[in-house]
Amino acid sequence: MRESLIDVKSFSIRLHVHGDLDFFLGSRAGPGRVERRLSEKTSVKDVIESCGIPHSEVDLILLNGEAVNFGYAVRGDAEIELYPPGIQSSNFREKRLQATGINAFVADGHLGKLVRDLRLLGIDVAYDPAAQDRQLVEIASRNNRALLTRDRRLLMYAAVQHGYYLRSQNPLEQTIEVLRRFDLGSILSPFSRCLRCNAFLEPAEKEKVIGQLEPLTRIYYSDFRRCTGCAQVYWSGSHFTKLQRRLKEIRANLGS
Ligand SMILES: [Zn+2]
Repeated sequence: MRESLIDVKSFSIRLHVHGDLDFFLGSRAGPGRVERRLSEKTSVKDVIESCGIPHSEVDLILLNGEAVNFGYAVRGDAEIELYPPGIQSSNFREKRLQATGINAFVADGHLGKLVRDLRLLGIDVAYDPAAQDRQLVEIASRNNRALLTRDRRLLMYAAVQHGYYLRSQNPLEQTIEVLRRFDLGSILSPFSRCLRCNAFLEPAEKEKVIGQLEPLTRIYYSDFRRCTGCAQVYWSGSHFTKLQRRLKEIRANLGS
């Protein structure tokens, strides 16, 4: 008797995911689908995230064929289709949930190499290796930055409007992922930003920076840039050749 009462109240959700969203489902489910039974009304955001998919990865939700937002309360049997950003569909364009044109980021503390690559390309990335989870979420939300992380719990905070879970653990692949996900190819401005502190670089006269240079650098180089934030001086030395090689590598992979 008791069991049948519970059965009457509960309802079933069938989740179908598109694009690469099955990445988040792991091996628990069949390819691209999950079934759940719920016993009380639940927001779509909570349903999606209980299956391991952060809301920041979902651009369109169709519930029984109708586009809904994350706050929609699921009360009965439902078929839910989830689409990631970038899956082109002319339908429901105005129902997309992720903003476009995001070009500023905050990265969590384990992503130093990715941060360096992105700054090398001139992309604005806030980064403090010592930042706590709460601070990262706050910076993302307050400054309208997309949170880059490999911690999917972080992306599940309601305050996180924009974010991205890096699929790869390889910094070069991560860089390509970010450039593609946020469509940054057309705004790249290499060597315009400080790799250490993210501030812009400006041309600097040799006399102004000579005190910061090693003796050989003073002799062999004449073009310098200085960071407007931390005053770090940059010139076309051996580190520059290495950075140029990295840039070439990124561009080659982005094109492929
Ligand atoms: Zn700097």
